[in-house]
Amino acid sequence: MNSSRRTFIKRGLLGAATIPLVNISFSEAKASGLPMLDPNIINAKALAYTDDYKTVQSKPEYKPDSTCLNCSYFNPENGACPIFAGFAVAAEGWCRAWRPVR
Ligand code: SF4
Repeated sequence: MNSSRRTFIKRGLLGAATIPLVNISFSEAKASGLPMLDPNIINAKALAYTDDYKTVQSKPEYKPDSTCLNCSYFNPENGACPIFAGFAVAAEGWCRAWRPVR
């Protein structure tokens, strides 16, 4: 098997493994009792928060493949984000405060 085919298969397996994690984070966010952040409230609008990163992919400040799920502020245990204290954010969301996980 050549290395590009091996890499393709590995990425496919990783992608398949990621889908259940997204579902778990949503379930846990609901179980935590945190309300989901409304993108229309003023604090969310100030940082251009969206619950669907695909809606902001054309913005110049959007970094490719950045979502709440791979943001250093995101808590995968309950979906909380300290930038929006008291709320859970969508795993596939995004805002201008996004920082990569180190
Ligand atoms: S700071 Fe990170 S986790 Fe919080 S809303 Fe913005 S992108 Fe999502």
